[in-house]
Amino acid sequence: ASGYSLLRDPHHNKGLAFNEKERDAYYLRGLLPPTVISQDLQVKKMMHSIRQYQVPLQKYMAMMDLQELNERLFYKLLINNVEELLPVVYTPTVGKACQKYGSIFRRPQGLFISLKEKGKIREVLRNWPQRNIQVIVVTDGERILGLGDLGCQGMGIPIGKLSLYTALGGVRPSACLPVTIDVGTNNEKLLNDEFYIGLRQRRATGQEYAELMHEFMTAVKQIYGEKVLIQFEDFANHNAFDLLAKYSPTHLVFNDDIQGTASVVLAGLVAALKVVGGTLADHRFLFLGAGEAGTGIAELIALEISKQVNMPLKEARKKISLVDSKGLIVKSRIDTLQHFKKPWAHDHEPVKNLVDVVNGIKPTVLIGTSGVGRTFNKEVVEAMSALNEKPIIFSLSNPTSQSECTAEEAYTWSQGRAIFASGSPFDPVEYNGRVFVPGQANNAYIFPGLGLGLIMSGAIRVHDDMLLAASEALAAQVTQENFDKGQIYPPFRNIRKISAHIAADVAAKAYELGLATRQPRPHNLVKYAENCMYDPGYQSYR
Ligand code: NAP
Ligand code: MN
Repeated sequence: ASGYSLLRDPHHNKGLAFNEKERDAYYLRGLLPPTVISQDLQVKKMMHSIRQYQVPLQKYMAMMDLQELNERLFYKLLINNVEELLPVVYTPTVGKACQKYGSIFRRPQGLFISLKEKGKIREVLRNWPQRNIQVIVVTDGERILGLGDLGCQGMGIPIGKLSLYTALGGVRPSACLPVTIDVGTNNEKLLNDEFYIGLRQRRATGQEYAELMHEFMTAVKQIYGEKVLIQFEDFANHNAFDLLAKYSPTHLVFNDDIQGTASVVLAGLVAALKVVGGTLADHRFLFLGAGEAGTGIAELIALEISKQVNMPLKEARKKISLVDSKGLIVKSRIDTLQHFKKPWAHDHEPVKNLVDVVNGIKPTVLIGTSGVGRTFNKEVVEAMSALNEKPIIFSLSNPTSQSECTAEEAYTWSQGRAIFASGSPFDPVEYNGRVFVPGQANNAYIFPGLGLGLIMSGAIRVHDDMLLAASEALAAQVTQENFDKGQIYPPFRNIRKISAHIAADVAAKAYELGLATRQPRPHNLVKYAENCMYDPGYQSYR
């Protein structure tokens, strides 16, 4: 290969870090200025230039350009500056990028599969340059973050999620495949936008939708085998639950919005109980919002309770109540409930107002997954604080403007007694001379480690016990020092180590359940996980 093309190959390019010998051997003389610098200096320089941008979207675009120019430097930057760059390559900035995808679109990334490719999906997959795929993140763009239907422009999400699989979980970048399924969009603004890059039609539904998805799922298994992990991402709830149920028995599938959220929130609860006391079974849980996140979390809590105290799942569910847009979910509503809500229809009179529900049910834990901001108002937080010495309050809705309450509100209205976590990041809060550090229930704590655990054990199915193992592993990473500051999640800067521990425990579960195909089982799974992890340091060419 010529030096010229080497500099344009993102997988091999090192820019100014090519040393003298490499410059001679690979025909690079003259194509680079004379200075040779280290990767560390390149990182320093890139961070300097990214920090110059005031607008987050510009930082995002600079990162995407870097990914296309020098992949190893991109990952080195992300790993070394994870707390600063996570909000750039993922939420909230990635949301802005998806909204403007049409206008910032330069080179296509990821694989687009639209209705036009129906009947030809296997050929489309073969157009992708890599064959050894280990993780696919796929979206149909219908419910991107809290932003709704962005159609084909949802592609930013699989790309962002997979860059986290690599940076945080150590999955090789060449083993990652981002996919967007385009069945149209119901977003009128996009349909009328002359620069829209997707199919200009309303969303296909029913059989037409199911057939395209089925062709995709079948083709993926045929081409990449049984051990490829398929992560469903940002599907609307009317498809998400069905797809997960349909393909769980035959494919290695995982829905981050349902299962990943559930696992990360359960971890936060397990950690919170170390502060508050009692076991999960001693607590009562109330959710505002009964969609993918709410019912997903509720189900995993119920499962953990049923295992811990050996209680039938049906009984365990009774400790958990959910409120949707129509009020408390109760038996009398059962005929009109979507199927994923039915298990939560308990015997109770209908109640509409959240404060009345709180005072009626007397929860010890209140979790917001409604997507509607300002719903945990002063009255609600005060009611929780009157009922509990240490109320556990999670405001999980994103973005920040949709958070059910802010960290400051939670600490102030509870007089510093709340154990608080949120979906979007909040700064530490000073209250009565004490500094409280709110936790962020970020899914990025779980899915990269979970994915690594599945891959390194050669797992062929995802089992709920693996999600529980991941939660326990994450909760175990919270130190006394963290607890002292009110933190129920470990600091993100340790994420590679956290991911290795999660991966090890998930893999152990896979072996225990007979779902692991990689034999023999490595002796020390944490070490093995660490050794499996992709290291973005440059390799020397000779
Ligand atoms: P979803 O499936 O659309 O569910 C939303 C639920 O909220 C539905 O049950 C809806 O009721 C209910 N709801 C809407 N308005 C309400 C209101 N005014 N009062 C009470 N309930 C209301 O969405 P999702 O995927 O679960 O996501 C929900 C939120 O959680 C989003 O903001 C998302 O960003 C956040 N989230 C956070 C994390 C995290 O922190 N790690 C992870 C995932 C999601 P109906 O069913 O009656 O329409
Ligand atoms: Mn998502």
